[in-house]
Amino acid sequence: MSNSTKYVFVTGGVTSSLGKGIISASLAKLLQARGYSVTIQKLDPYINIDPGTLNPYEHGECFVTDDGAETDLDLGHYERFLNTPTSQANNVTTGRIYQSVIDKERRGEFLGKTVQVIPHITNEIKERIQILGKKGTYDIVITEIGGTVGDIESLPYVEAVRQMMWEFENDCIVIHLTLVPYLRAAGELKTKPTQHSVKQLLELGVQPDILCCRTEYELDLNLRRKIAQFCNVSLNAVIESRDADTIYDVPLLMQAEELDKVVLDKLSLPTKSIPNLDNWKSFLRRLKAPKSEVTIGLVGKYVELKDSYKSISESFIHAGVSNEAKVNIRWIHSEKITRSNVDSELKGLDGILVAPGFGSRGISGKIETVRYARENKVPFFGICLGMQCAVIEFARNVLSLTEAHTTEIVNDCKAPVISMMEEQKDISNMGGTMRLGAYKCNLTPGSHVSTAYNTDSISERHRHRYEFNNDYLEQFEENGMKATGRNPETGLVEVIELEDHPWFVGTQFHPEYKSTVDNPHPLFVAFIDAVLKNKK
Ligand code: GLN
Repeated sequence: MSNSTKYVFVTGGVTSSLGKGIISASLAKLLQARGYSVTIQKLDPYINIDPGTLNPYEHGECFVTDDGAETDLDLGHYERFLNTPTSQANNVTTGRIYQSVIDKERRGEFLGKTVQVIPHITNEIKERIQILGKKGTYDIVITEIGGTVGDIESLPYVEAVRQMMWEFENDCIVIHLTLVPYLRAAGELKTKPTQHSVKQLLELGVQPDILCCRTEYELDLNLRRKIAQFCNVSLNAVIESRDADTIYDVPLLMQAEELDKVVLDKLSLPTKSIPNLDNWKSFLRRLKAPKSEVTIGLVGKYVELKDSYKSISESFIHAGVSNEAKVNIRWIHSEKITRSNVDSELKGLDGILVAPGFGSRGISGKIETVRYARENKVPFFGICLGMQCAVIEFARNVLSLTEAHTTEIVNDCKAPVISMMEEQKDISNMGGTMRLGAYKCNLTPGSHVSTAYNTDSISERHRHRYEFNNDYLEQFEENGMKATGRNPETGLVEVIELEDHPWFVGTQFHPEYKSTVDNPHPLFVAFIDAVLKNKK
């Protein structure tokens, strides 16, 4: 059976957190730089329909696509590396697979048959893998299988891979990512965990074509030979994946190992041109030789787990490079900030970002933080809940609406400056029911934001239920907080700015989801630019 799209599966063994997402994104980058059209998909073996209802402590940030899918944070890496948008089809969970099989069963589509993991669940998985391939836009689809080989919950996925390897013989390959640990007592790198992990895959009927070996030290030729021989892969298909200073080094490390060439060879595809990575290399050069340094306070309630704010911290890396500056982030727990300690906690920061979030925990610390930034004229960027806190703070301390709040926290508050959208009021299901995905926004000419974007019409991604309450808009604008971004259809306020402040911007949308290496986000770039100017 022949198929025009080629499929690369990426599995992981030995342990989790080996960085399958970064290896997948790096390979995709190299193939893209050779002129192939590539996309990456993540299959997650958990039973949640999507990560939208997950606490960030579980799996880190929830990434949002243009089409409003709430997805795994690896999709953020895919977009940042490839500079192409992903969609709902790029992230599938076990929950979604089962839900759709069960829906089909209820509709009678299985014609009275017993519905089973094999073939019904595996067929559904195979269909989901091929949705992207069948679009006709991609030469190569890279599918990352979440979890670790050997886990009970990933068995149906590995079985689906086995079937596809058999059905599309020449169009599929498997890259297995493993760990080659260094035993200090023995002074040696050990290949046994890799051998066992490959055996486990073989028991499930899958022979990997390429092994990517995570290691802290060089894999010498002897070790590579040993791994090749005991795992049945060719010598050039044993790829060393050394720890890197930054994830943005990984494509170049993989290029040095010729991962892209080996993949193309195994898929019988021409190598085409030598990858053009000029932009990437110049990004790395500037990343590694900053001319100045700034420190931004990131105030949020999940700061113990930095993955909760992955897209924001990556956006700062991109914006730093654009400004030839190193952006240090000081992670500040919003729960720890009070009126009495705010000055000492935030002292010395060059800029402040108040993070998105849900619920009441830490919100008073966020509001105090905004007051500090506004009064001390420290460049400020508020995202989603961060913008809402800026609105609440202004209402309380400038407009003297002492009881101002969001109805998310105080449902019957006297001055609901942030309140629920009418269409959200009857919703009782938590999953997938927020204002999600890309919406248009018109900007006020001459504002900080329109200067940053260099256009007056933009589209950005949303993920929230509550909105600026337009009943108060006139009062805000008369007193110096302007709505400089509005939704053209609904008039909803999407951006607020302060006059008489070096740079004070709050956005209801999430700009961090759209920052990439090739296209650092204009608002983050402008924020760091303002921070640098203010510092001088
Ligand atoms: N909790 C707020 C809302 O739902 C903000 C959400 C966010 O910061 N993503 O509107």
